[in-house]
Amino acid sequence: MDLTFTEQQDAFRQEVRAWLEENRPVDDFEPYYTPTGLAQYKDWERSLIDAGYSAPGWPKEYGGLGLDLWGQLIYDEEYARLNLPERINKMGLLHGGPTVMAHGTEEQKAKWLPDLLDNTHIWCQGFSEPDAGSDLAALRTTGRIEGENLILNGQKTWTSFGVIATKMFALVRTDPAAAKHRGISFVVLDLDTPGVEVRPLRQLHGHAGFAEVFFTDAAVPLANVVGPLGEGWRIAQTSLQLERGTGRGVHTRLEHALNEVTHLARRDLDSASMERLGSLKAWTSAFAHASYALTDAMSRGEEKTADASVLKLRQSEIQTAIREEQLALLGGDAELISDVEPDAPLPTMLREYWHSRAGEIFAGTTQIQKNIIAEAGLGLPREPRP
Ligand SMILES: Cc1cc2nc3c(=O)[nH]c(=O)nc-3n(C[C@H](O)[C@H](O)[C@H](O)COP(=O)(O)OP(=O)(O)OC[C@H]3O[C@@H](n4cnc5c(N)ncnc54)[C@H](O)[C@@H]3O)c2cc1C
Repeated sequence: MDLTFTEQQDAFRQEVRAWLEENRPVDDFEPYYTPTGLAQYKDWERSLIDAGYSAPGWPKEYGGLGLDLWGQLIYDEEYARLNLPERINKMGLLHGGPTVMAHGTEEQKAKWLPDLLDNTHIWCQGFSEPDAGSDLAALRTTGRIEGENLILNGQKTWTSFGVIATKMFALVRTDPAAAKHRGISFVVLDLDTPGVEVRPLRQLHGHAGFAEVFFTDAAVPLANVVGPLGEGWRIAQTSLQLERGTGRGVHTRLEHALNEVTHLARRDLDSASMERLGSLKAWTSAFAHASYALTDAMSRGEEKTADASVLKLRQSEIQTAIREEQLALLGGDAELISDVEPDAPLPTMLREYWHSRAGEIFAGTTQIQKNIIAEAGLGLPREPRP
């Protein structure tokens, strides 16, 4: 693997770096689920959109920069290097939109992609249900065909960005008689459709951006089904693989987090924490190299299912270990909670810690990643499918 960037790539990095440094927001944002926070995120993202940086990895015909995987990595590294805010439309920009590009009709692409690119619509992902998470194909939300519509009934849960989203890409069962992984369809719907109810969910660390979404006889045009009816499981693999793949500057974010913690450690260092910090440095460096290796293999068109799972597994482990170290260094101070506002969000440190634990669950839990590595990486027998 040749890790030398070309002159053109270096020039692109300098261009992105200069733009981000000049235009980056100066203040920390409120959470996106508050009116002030949402306005701050939208303002910042408006400048990204106007500069053509809304979805740099999208093809030019859909408003992106048409970057290859290395160009995307450079952009993501620069974005993460400044620890800039996560995108409120990332479910759509990273997963939903590219799935529509891969499987949607020309009408669907023309209708949905421009509004997604410029945040006119915020998208969320409606896959998980109360009894369908790791075993996603156990989903029970139904889509009954009636004339030109699908009539949805059921419930989705753990919907990130659900409280601010206006559209959802969802998996629904359109043929209950078919085998478990068949008879599922992938559909895009408006969340203001009559019969759709979004209920906010507040997490343990105070974050209230999650939602559960209920459908009661909600009529969604059949024209909103992406790909053939009953082929939703296959279509959803595009979205799920994108979720587990490389990118989003994760290795740079890990390095950033470790630097923050190392900075704290300078105040109060003992040999045990020095040793742990040294290990974390070794892990984050190895993680960065593994991210480069995966980018390299994928840009040569290789399929790397097990490697993507190894990265996802390591990412959550390193993230949690960094935040555990941070809590250990801060001791009791990390846990100070306001007695004036007991419902106020937890202090940032504690929030970061809990968020790192969530990384062991979303986009496939730690145990599921291990199963994938065992099957795809080691060639061990697949779990029997019910
Ligand atoms: C921060 C966050 C954001 C999320 N955002 C979204 C979203 O936007 N949209 C969406 O649809 N979903 C979202 N999810 C849901 C997420 O996809 C599920 O939580 C996840 O798939 C796990 O499903 P579950 O919670 O039902 O747990 P379960 O699948 O019930 O798992 C419970 C435990 O059993 C283990 N387990 C399950 N099956 C196996 C197996 N075969 N072998 C070994 N161990 C197993 C799991 O690893 C876990 O430890 C989000 C979750 C989190 C934490």
